[in-house]
Amino acid sequence: MQTHFSAAQLAQADIEESNRILRKCVHCGFCNATCPTFLLIGDELDGPRGRIYLIKDMIENDRPATEKVVRHIDRCLSCLACMTTCPSGVHYMHLIDHGRRHIEKTYRRPLADRMLRDFFAWVMPDPARFRRMMALARLAKPLASLLPGRLGAMGRLTPGKLPAPGVTETPRVFPAEGRRQKRVALLAGCVQQALDPAINDATVRLLTRHGCEVTVSAGAGCCGSLTHHLGRDALAFARANVDAWMGELDRGGLDAVIVNASGCGTTVKDYGFMLREDPAYAAKAAKIASLARDVSEFMAALGLKAPANPPGMRVAYHSACSLQHGQRIHAQPKQLLAQAGFEVLDVPEGHICCGSAGTYNMLQPALAETLRARKVKAIESVKPQAIAAGNIGCIAQIASGTGIPVLHTVELLDWATGGPKPAALA
Ligand code: SF4
Ligand code: SF4
Repeated sequence: MQTHFSAAQLAQADIEESNRILRKCVHCGFCNATCPTFLLIGDELDGPRGRIYLIKDMIENDRPATEKVVRHIDRCLSCLACMTTCPSGVHYMHLIDHGRRHIEKTYRRPLADRMLRDFFAWVMPDPARFRRMMALARLAKPLASLLPGRLGAMGRLTPGKLPAPGVTETPRVFPAEGRRQKRVALLAGCVQQALDPAINDATVRLLTRHGCEVTVSAGAGCCGSLTHHLGRDALAFARANVDAWMGELDRGGLDAVIVNASGCGTTVKDYGFMLREDPAYAAKAAKIASLARDVSEFMAALGLKAPANPPGMRVAYHSACSLQHGQRIHAQPKQLLAQAGFEVLDVPEGHICCGSAGTYNMLQPALAETLRARKVKAIESVKPQAIAAGNIGCIAQIASGTGIPVLHTVELLDWATGGPKPAALA
């Protein structure tokens, strides 16, 4: 694609990067074929190629975002299926991130939209605050089916029961069982800790059982991805995590930074890019990004113990977009589940998003619920006894549309190798 940025524009790092991305696009439109919003809406501007043109026009002409541009960009899930499909290597993720920042700078959203986005950016990165808000939201849950639009979606996604805090709520070190083979830092995260602390508990048991010392570091917290995808500055989150994990590197060395929510993993792996312009952090952030591993990626490389109790259960594996498209990890979780004694079922249309996408299912409830219904239908067609996924957003989204238990992959691996039976299967 031809671009016409001025020399002054190209002196800005964001624009220089977007120019490089845009010039790779050859307009072929292959990406539209796997785009969930293009599939549902059928409008060129609701597919990746159309959004690329909208972003190009906006930033090349230094135009403020219009209502029309915002509508089409907001409908993008950032599922990154288009990146997997693109034959030219267009880095859509960095381009849409730039587009969202431009929108945030130049467009004044309607008051209700602004307030909701401010609320998400304030509540979600803090597990204690998020837990308090969920306690309040539970009171409105019985009315969820009567509430319209975004309010109804939030009510439906609020869990019926609030779990007690898990073992990673405060910083600590979990010693390896037997001889220590690895030392890893676990990103305890934010929303996941409050919604389903059993995932971190199972992750710690699985890793320590496999000879890893696991540290939950003081100062590490939300990865910043929820804020980042709202188009806001998430660099303070990234810097705090980089500082915390560099401290671990200096103290006892670190073999990996383990992330068990793939939406977060995609962001942590991008820290080097996000902080590339900060001379004090660029090198450290690149180092941390190079250590980041999804828990399934790490366990596949480490090797899973033979299952203590092969469960022989039929498990449908839902491949979270952030894992399969964002991190290109697809085979490892399925291989681990099969090694652990589960019968792993592929889900038809596995490349299509479930509609979760961070805060998308609350900001775009109609599209998100259509995608969820499509995903649940595809999953139920293979008649599983349980559903496994590697991202808390997908787990909550799919669980709100089916009676089949939905678990994190690590909960099943932990159970098979000697951990307790997950509560969701009780
Ligand atoms: S990220 Fe997903 S929703 Fe957005 S343009 Fe790409 S394929 Fe479509
Ligand atoms: S597939 Fe890639 S090159 Fe083709 S239109 Fe989409 S982004 Fe551009």
